[in-house]
Amino acid sequence: MELAAEALAAGDEPFGSVLVGAEGRVLAEDRNRVAGGDHTRHPEFALARWAADHLTPAERAAATVYTSGEHCPMCAAAHAWVGLGRIVYASSAEQLASWLRALGVPPPPVRMLPIPDVAPGVAVEGPAPGLAEQVRDLHRRFHQPA
Ligand SMILES: [Zn+2]
Repeated sequence: MELAAEALAAGDEPFGSVLVGAEGRVLAEDRNRVAGGDHTRHPEFALARWAADHLTPAERAAATVYTSGEHCPMCAAAHAWVGLGRIVYASSAEQLASWLRALGVPPPPVRMLPIPDVAPGVAVEGPAPGLAEQVRDLHRRFHQPA
């Protein structure tokens, strides 16, 4: 949530993700960085590539990604391709799609699918009541700045 807020403060879409190892230690973290024009710079994609470069297959399988929003299809695919473990998300792709519709934001060029539709072998948990409302507020502030 802090990383998502940091992204918003930097003028980017509010998404943030943390990669946690089997022992509960934070291994890497990132936030959305698409404001520069490269719309593949999602934190979940960056963490998957970081994991492929820095972790063994066993370490990747035992790691968990905690993220403010459910992975998009690109990031879910990257997560599965590098063999990462569980995903815990605060808000779902379905929630985000409905919030953006309500805000009048045009649909993205990639369909927002649930992670299991893209990566059926990945264990997922979410959304998290309470946190999801905070994510909605961040998106409202991004798309409708006061
Ligand atoms: Zn993504």
